[in-house]
Amino acid sequence: MNALLKHPHLDVEIFEFAPEFSERGAAVGIAQNGQAALAEIGGAVAGALDRAGAVVMSSSRMYMASGPSAMSFVFDLAAEQRGKVVHRAALLTELLKPISQEKMHTNKKVVRIEDLESGRVLLYFNDGATFEVDAVIGADGVHGYVREYVLGVDHPALKPKFGGFWDARSLVSMQKAKELLGKDYFNEGLQRQYGWVGDGGFFMHDVLDGGETVQCVVCGVMDEEWGEDEWKRELDRRALEKAVVKWTDTPIKRGMIEAMLENADLKAFAEWHHKENAPTYAKGHVCIMGDAAHCMTPWQGSGAGQAIEDAMILETLLKEVRDPSQLTAAFKAYDQVRRPRTQRIIKSSHGTGMIMCGRGPDTGLDMDKIREALPKRWVFIHTQDQKEHKRESLAALKAVA
Ligand SMILES: Cc1cc2nc3c(=O)[nH]c(=O)nc-3n(C[C@H](O)[C@H](O)[C@H](O)COP(=O)(O)OP(=O)(O)OC[C@H]3O[C@@H](n4cnc5c(N)ncnc54)[C@H](O)[C@@H]3O)c2cc1C
Repeated sequence: MNALLKHPHLDVEIFEFAPEFSERGAAVGIAQNGQAALAEIGGAVAGALDRAGAVVMSSSRMYMASGPSAMSFVFDLAAEQRGKVVHRAALLTELLKPISQEKMHTNKKVVRIEDLESGRVLLYFNDGATFEVDAVIGADGVHGYVREYVLGVDHPALKPKFGGFWDARSLVSMQKAKELLGKDYFNEGLQRQYGWVGDGGFFMHDVLDGGETVQCVVCGVMDEEWGEDEWKRELDRRALEKAVVKWTDTPIKRGMIEAMLENADLKAFAEWHHKENAPTYAKGHVCIMGDAAHCMTPWQGSGAGQAIEDAMILETLLKEVRDPSQLTAAFKAYDQVRRPRTQRIIKSSHGTGMIMCGRGPDTGLDMDKIREALPKRWVFIHTQDQKEHKRESLAALKAVA
């Protein structure tokens, strides 16, 4: 919305299912490519990360937590391509500030979309209301409706599938984190994200709220005990200890268990992804972006960054649209440039998760092989030239128009 606000010829409204705009979850990391896309969008978005208290990560530093090399340093990811970690709610607050209240509609769940003969589109909401528009951008997440309209109700790629992993998170104060995990990992002025490769799982901690809070995340490979429709499960001490039973007994394993149990309501959540590739992200005057288009497991910390890139490209194309008849071409061009990259990341992210949980088919818990295989997996994500990506989308628009 912020991206489109800059263009007076585009009149944009947001419809949100929830009673208010809010963000569940703690932190989100915005890597260099996402930061560059935000800078390209500019306007009210520029500087939003910093105003929201984002902390620059000096690097993501990986260690082994299992196997013969337990507690050994593996590598530093992206020391020269720094990511920023930010509290989700704080970032959302910043992003909503420039948007006028009259443009934001809550308690509005989209349940149907109808093409009108006029070429316009009619949105139907769960409260019986309708709203007529020239175009719809479905940013309604992994369990939204607009993907169904675009792909069709029976399409095999419609529904997200379990990504094969679960994760749980706990927020602790900086003081508590130093006590439980060791103060060597927290150096004011040089904050890092730390990852620990376990046997069938992974532990990560990073710093947010300008250095006040430490986010701890534990992840595991789903076992056969997970039911097909089980989205989450309780994670008490016994269950957590069972999940990491194969990990080498190290101080970090013990500290991690205590840090996770600081969350009195600890739950393991299934990770989802769009395992089957959608054949398109657009249909006529309707398109999908973000998790609605390309839900990915979080192993390469890229879902939000890709949603920001989507917004950048949609702005680039929609600012060229002077008449509604050009919308189909704009969305086709969007689909052409965004789908290959985002679907590649879905696949890459899953493979990265397997390696980070010590289950890569070619790497296992072999530190040297992990060191060789992992770092290069981020290069194509982080080093994208966003100006070139925008040019590519305009060329695609010219070709399809
Ligand atoms: C554990 C975890 C860690 C992650 N870490 C990172 C990270 O470090 N870096 C990163 O870049 N990404 C990360 N991601 C991914 C990132 O969180 C998502 O990609 C991103 O939040 C997707 O944003 P979205 O706006 O597309 O969808 P959502 O955030 O899901 O928003 C969708 C919105 O649409 C609304 N909605 C749903 N249905 C309807 C409807 N029918 N009508 C109207 N409104 C509707 C919902 O209420 C919601 O507000 C992580 C994800 C997970 C699960």
